[in-house]
Amino acid sequence: MTIFTRIAKGEIPSYKVAEDERFYAFLDINPLAPGHTLVIPKDVEDDYIFHLDEETYAGLWAFARKVAVALKAAVPCQRVGVAVLGMEVPHTHIHLVPLQTEGDMDFRKTRPEVTPEQHKAIAAAILKEYEKL
Ligand code: 5GP
Repeated sequence: MTIFTRIAKGEIPSYKVAEDERFYAFLDINPLAPGHTLVIPKDVEDDYIFHLDEETYAGLWAFARKVAVALKAAVPCQRVGVAVLGMEVPHTHIHLVPLQTEGDMDFRKTRPEVTPEQHKAIAAAILKEYEKL
């Protein structure tokens, strides 16, 4: 079982920002910017997004779109950037990153310090916006 499956099941704690029956979104523990969110299918552990069946693939992106709308409403930013890497965790996931500048999307940059209290407050703000949609 991957670490992200265990997060979706609640076996490992995470800062949840959105959830439906099949998909789960939570804050990246080492964010590129405050509010950096990961969006995953709960039950599909394949490490490569283009291995997903078409229906799951479309559903994941539709869910990610809603999360991005909520993220932009909760975290002031120019726009929400999207990336799919999967170089570290072998469980398909989409990165959603609140951007002020293009450089905020640089995965090699030094990551900002975000305290647990800040993570908690940001996650709660995104979840609140998500629940309005
Ligand atoms: P990728 O696999 O797309 O290259 O990167 C995986 C991302 O997952 C990284 O940005 C990393 O900070 C994040 N990450 C890795 N392990 C955990 C974890 O246990 N919890 C959370 N919330 N994020 C994680």
